[in-house]
Amino acid sequence: MSKFPAGQKILRGISGSPGICIGKAYLVDREGVNIIKRYHIVDDLVSKEVDRFKNAVIQAKNDHAKTIESLGQDLSGNLNILETHMALFKDKMLYGQTIDTITADQVNAEWALRKVSRNVRRMFEQIDDDYLQARVNDIVQVSDKIMTYLTGGEDIRIRDINKRVIIVAHDLSPADTSQIQLERIKGFVTDRGGKDSHTSIVAKSLKIPSVMGLGTATANVNNDDILIVDGTSGIIIINPEEDTLFKYEEKLARFEAYRADIERDSHLASVTTDGVEINLLANIELVEEVVSAMDNRAAGIGLFRTEFLYLDLNRFPTEDELLQKYKELVELMHPKPVTIRTLDINGDKFNPYIDPVEEANPALGLRAVRFCLENEDKFITQIKAILRAAASGEIKMLIPMISCVEEIIQVKTVINKAIIELEQEDKIFNKDIPLGIMIEVPSAVIMANELAKHVDFFSIGTNDLIQYSMAIDRRNRRVAHLYQALNPAVLQMIRLTVQAARDNNIDLYMCGEMAGDSVNIPVLVGLGLTNLSMNSGAIPVVKKMIRSLDACRAKKNADIIMGLSTVEEITDFILEEYKDILPYRDNEE
Ligand code: PEP
Ligand code: MG
Repeated sequence: MSKFPAGQKILRGISGSPGICIGKAYLVDREGVNIIKRYHIVDDLVSKEVDRFKNAVIQAKNDHAKTIESLGQDLSGNLNILETHMALFKDKMLYGQTIDTITADQVNAEWALRKVSRNVRRMFEQIDDDYLQARVNDIVQVSDKIMTYLTGGEDIRIRDINKRVIIVAHDLSPADTSQIQLERIKGFVTDRGGKDSHTSIVAKSLKIPSVMGLGTATANVNNDDILIVDGTSGIIIINPEEDTLFKYEEKLARFEAYRADIERDSHLASVTTDGVEINLLANIELVEEVVSAMDNRAAGIGLFRTEFLYLDLNRFPTEDELLQKYKELVELMHPKPVTIRTLDINGDKFNPYIDPVEEANPALGLRAVRFCLENEDKFITQIKAILRAAASGEIKMLIPMISCVEEIIQVKTVINKAIIELEQEDKIFNKDIPLGIMIEVPSAVIMANELAKHVDFFSIGTNDLIQYSMAIDRRNRRVAHLYQALNPAVLQMIRLTVQAARDNNIDLYMCGEMAGDSVNIPVLVGLGLTNLSMNSGAIPVVKKMIRSLDACRAKKNADIIMGLSTVEEITDFILEEYKDILPYRDNEE
C-alpha cells in the first residue's frame, strides 16, 4: 500500500539509473501508437482507402516542401537528399505499389505502406552497394513521413524535444536513449525494460535518473502531469501532494550534496586500506562521454561499446569514419589505455538497417561476434579501423560473446585477413595490440582455461553472464527479480574465471554493471579482481568504497561468501559486515 496521501499515484518499477528529478511529463510513443494493425477494407470502400493514402502523401509532400523552403540557402549538402525525398513521394516503388497492395489485398493503407517499405528494404538488403543502401534509407524515411499522416501520430524525435521535461515512454531503445539532450531532459521512465538493459546503461552514463519496467506508466501519466522520479528506489510519483513534493525536494538536495561530497574526493588514489591498487576504468557508448570519464578520473576506457555509431547512422560506417572516431577517442584519452569492443549488434541493439531479420529470441540469436563472423566484410572493416587507430595510442581489442574456442580461432583468422589487406594497401597500423574476449556466456566460463590460451586478456561481462546463467532476458521486467549479481551461481562463475586467468597468466577485467555497484565491491576485490570498468558516474562512489576496504579481510570474507547458498544470505552477510563503509542510502521520508 502506498504511504502517500490519496490523489497522487505511485508506480513501482526497477531502478534504471540513480538520482531524483522533479518535473513535467512528456509522453513519447504512447503504447500502441506504433503498432500497425491490419484490417480488411470492404469492396466499396477500397477507393476511399486509396484516397486516404493519396491525401497522406500530399500532406507529407507539402510538409516536406515547406522544410526545403524554410532551409532556403542553408541547404548545401542536404539539398540533394531532400530533393531525392521529394521525388520519392510519388515513386512507383513506394507510391504505386502501396496503392496496388491496398486494392489487391483489400487492406488498410498503413498496413499496405508498411508491407511495401519492408519489401523494398529486404529486396536491397543483400546488395553491398553504398549508393543503393542510401536510397533504401531514403525510401524508408519517406515512408515514415507518410505513415505519420496516416496514423495521425506526431513525428516526435527525442533529439528534437526542446523543453525541460521527463520523458515517459512505453519503451526506449538504447539508440533512442542515446539521443537524449542532457540540457533538456531531466529524466525518463518506461513501461518496459529490465535491470542493466542497454537503455538503463545509457541512462546511467548520462547521469539522469530513470525508472524502468513500470508496466503502466504511459497509461497512468498524461502530458504535463508533475512527476517525481526516484531512480534510486525505482519509483515514480504522479501529481504528488504538496507534502510529498516538499519531502522529495529535500531528498534531492541531500542526494546532490552527497554526490558533490563523493566527487570532491575523486582525485584520490584507488587503493585499499592495506595498499592493494584497484584500477577503475570507464565504460562508454559514445566518444563524447570521454569528458565524463576524465572528470571522474577513470584510469582508462575499459569498454567502448562501438555499436551506437552503427545504430545512429542506420547503416554500416566506412573504415575511415570508424577510424576517425577511434582515433579521436585514443588521442583524447592518451596516455591512458582504451579497450575497443567489436560490434555487439542484435540482442537488444537491433536495427533493421543493419540486420533486417527479426528473431524470436534475439538474446540467443545472431548477436555480437556471431553476426560479425557471418558478415566478415563488415567485421574486417571494423578491425582495420581499430588496428589503424592503434598506431595513435594504446588500444586493446575486445571480442564480445565468445562461446567456444572455435570462434576465437575464426576471429584470429579474420584479424589476419585484415592485417594482410592493410599491408597491401600500405596503410599505417599497429598489429601488436592485446586481444581479449568477453566472458559473458556460461560455456566460456567452463572453457575459460582453454580460451585463455588464445588471448591476452578476459573481461567479465556480468550483464550478460547473469542473463545467460540465470536464463532471464535482461530487458524483461517480469523476471527482473532473478537478475541477481550476488547469486551464488554467478559468483562461482566469476571465481572460475579469475582462476583460469591466473593459471594462464593473462590480465583480467570486469566491465559488467556489477563492477559499478559498491555493494559488490568487497566480494569482487576478495575474489582477486583488480581491474574494474563501469559507467563513469559510478567511479567516485566505488573509489570511496575501495579506499575504506581492507583487501585481506575481503579475501577471507569472500571465502565465507562462497560457502553460502542463497542470494539473501550473501546480501545479508555483506550488508552486516560492511555496514560502516557502504555508501549512503536515503531512507528518510
Ligand atoms: C556485459 O554483458 O556485461 C557487458 C558489459 O556488455 P553489454 O552490457 O554491452 O552486453
Ligand atoms: Mg554483454
